[in-house]
Amino acid sequence: MNFVSTRGGAAPCTLSTAIAAGLAPDGGLYVPAELPRLRVTDFDGCTSLPGIAERLLQPFFAGDALEPELAAICREAFDFPAPLRALATPNDYILELFHGPTAAFKDFGARFLAACLSRLRRTQARELTIVVATSGDTGAAVAAAFHGQPGLRVAVLYPDGRVSPRQAHQLGCFDGNIHTCKVSGSFDDCQALVKQALNDAALQAQVPLSSANSISLGRLLPQMSYYASSSLQHWRTHGRALNVVIPTGNLGNAFAAILARALGLPLGDVVLATNANDVLPQFFGGAGYAPRASVATLANAMDVGAPSNFERLRWLYPDDAGLRAAFRAAAVDDAAIRDTIARRWRDHAEIHCPHTATAVRVLETLRRDGADGDWCVVSTAHPAKFESIVEPLIGRPVDVPPALAELLRRPAHAEPLAADYAAFAQQLREL
Ligand SMILES: *Cc1c(COP(=O)(O)O)cnc(C)c1O
Repeated sequence: MNFVSTRGGAAPCTLSTAIAAGLAPDGGLYVPAELPRLRVTDFDGCTSLPGIAERLLQPFFAGDALEPELAAICREAFDFPAPLRALATPNDYILELFHGPTAAFKDFGARFLAACLSRLRRTQARELTIVVATSGDTGAAVAAAFHGQPGLRVAVLYPDGRVSPRQAHQLGCFDGNIHTCKVSGSFDDCQALVKQALNDAALQAQVPLSSANSISLGRLLPQMSYYASSSLQHWRTHGRALNVVIPTGNLGNAFAAILARALGLPLGDVVLATNANDVLPQFFGGAGYAPRASVATLANAMDVGAPSNFERLRWLYPDDAGLRAAFRAAAVDDAAIRDTIARRWRDHAEIHCPHTATAVRVLETLRRDGADGDWCVVSTAHPAKFESIVEPLIGRPVDVPPALAELLRRPAHAEPLAADYAAFAQQLREL
């Protein structure tokens, strides 16, 4: 299969090229040149997450240099589960995506991307350096996924003092090929440094660079896998489609669900839950698409004012009416996030992270308004990652999952870095 740009200005390319490049040369996002159609029976005999992922992704890998490696890539990337569990309220479910090494759903995409890139680099003489700016979760997932991968190094930049203590520890606890910088500046400063480095041809001649941000096809495609496995499991046991509510920021996770449904997986309604950054709910409510600066909320990994994957939604549904008919979106403010976390604990003994709580809240509203059928909220992070928000609301400590506890036991170190491009470029040369 070939891949093309959402902006139509780039020559069709192979999957390997699209994964290695990240962004298309015309500034657009890579999308498949055609959509494969899959039936539930195509997955007969596939029960494990890696097995379902391999069957699902096979058409996208067809003819590519990575095709013979697909089974191994799926086994390597998806070596932890994505369980679908019942919630306390009837016909409500939760898809837990926080059982990976850094306890957030970004582990799925980051590990898949690392498994692909490490294979593509085997034939290259020079090391490739992945540069990532992070507001918290992405950097840790990328660092964990690329740690120890031969031929690859990672430089992570995070804004000093603006991530939670546990997030800072996770970012700095990888040694060897992972280099972490705490930047005296904001997330936007970190992102500006990364963008400038990726556009610096002279630097790249000395230090080959690539990115691992959420628009990468190597992160997007694998995220369909857990929607395929959960909806198939539900279909096989209950014979009904699964409706999903997804905590949404940059739209990477939700777009994967939308694409999985378009391929033919038994998913019903897809509803996007945002925090107070409500550009998408405004658009789906009939207003124009009006990206703007983000505001800080309790669900900080969703503090996005200009969702980058919106361009892919437009590609899949070219006219606004069709797009608005295909999904819904709703916003949840901080007061409602707090109330949901406290109340679900008090009434149902459930503990949700602030991101997951936005989806739980939206589902509660849908049920109140008469939604029937089977609904699933997507849990994007473990509550122990956001203990400083969750613990005061529920009045007890949150148990730390073993993988996260293991990272928190390691020593952590980050290099201080001024928000100054010359200093950053010099660091990259000296890594
Ligand atoms: C990144 C992230 C999100 C938002 O996902 P998008 O793909 O950007 O929409 C939601 N919750 C958590 C915990 C995250 O880390």
